[in-house]
Amino acid sequence: MNPRELMQMYTRELSDLVAGRATPLNLMEVCGTHTVNACRSGVHSLMPPNVRLISGPGCPVCVTAQRYIDALVALGRRGDVTILTYGDMIRVAGAGGSLEIARGEGADVRVVTSTLEGLEIARREPGRQFVFAAVGFETTAPATAAAVLQAAAESLRNFSILPAHKLVLPAMRTLLNDPEVKIDGFVCPGHVSVIIGSEAYRPIVSEYHKPCVVTGFEALQIMQGVLHLARQIVRGETRLENLYPEAVSPQGNPHAVTLIDRVFVPGTSAWRALGEMPESGLDVREEFAAFDAFRKFNIRLGEDHEPRGCICGKVITGRAVPVECRLFGTVCTPVYAVGPCMVSSEGTCQAWFKYRRH
Ligand code: SF4
Repeated sequence: MNPRELMQMYTRELSDLVAGRATPLNLMEVCGTHTVNACRSGVHSLMPPNVRLISGPGCPVCVTAQRYIDALVALGRRGDVTILTYGDMIRVAGAGGSLEIARGEGADVRVVTSTLEGLEIARREPGRQFVFAAVGFETTAPATAAAVLQAAAESLRNFSILPAHKLVLPAMRTLLNDPEVKIDGFVCPGHVSVIIGSEAYRPIVSEYHKPCVVTGFEALQIMQGVLHLARQIVRGETRLENLYPEAVSPQGNPHAVTLIDRVFVPGTSAWRALGEMPESGLDVREEFAAFDAFRKFNIRLGEDHEPRGCICGKVITGRAVPVECRLFGTVCTPVYAVGPCMVSSEGTCQAWFKYRRH
């Protein structure tokens, strides 16, 4: 069968499975790339009316707490520190503006494509302090850890990180513990699964009795993931399935996990929309304290103040879809983004604006 015929077959089977079902199936994907690819390919339009594929907290920029952005911007405004950041972060607004605004006012903010590039910049300018904005899930944490290890090996004292890495499982647990959020099963994040392995989701299946399916990023793979979840739910099963074995092994990438464990320990982390969750982030180990910008510059996080009218919190947790925000597509667009979900190329609001606006 060619991909088109396969897609038709999956779509038909899904419709047959849920035909006449009064209670809708709420399936959540927790991955920015799934969000974008599902929107771009029109997968949602193939869903029967009683199957909802909801986007969860899978966009790393979107889940970064506003108080962290504020700390980063304040650090950049000191004048003696250069902020190194991945591209999307630069436009996310904090209470006192974004890194982009700070740069316009004279702060030294540089976009890098890798931690190695950040290290190289720090080596070239030994007289200046550089702080890397370390955000993202388990996917980007190994590269941050490798940079810290390298900086330590070279005694590169003008390089540090401001850690805000997040762990995906505590977020899934928090959503499942919230009576307001209805989730019948998870399309598990693809990139994160490559690192942590499919078996990491076993507790979601055994403790919460929610089926989990790991799948790839193509439209056909996403549809297959949805179909497998629906099959399980309709048959009363609760299993962990890995439909992406070519990239995801049961135990993940041990080298990447070792790198993370070498530099970080799980710690309390502040998430946008989900609040502070214990053991949901990565703190720098004492051994590498000299490379932790929180300690190096004595930074304390303040309070969160969400942009007025923005419902990113609800969007991130699947309680609302972007078109329910009164700012969507009018005041808030990718060019003039109000909240992080519209700033980030993996944000749900931006994906809806580009591909599902109509
Ligand atoms: Fe926030 Fe803009 Fe999304 Fe509304 S449309 S929730 S303002 S990012």
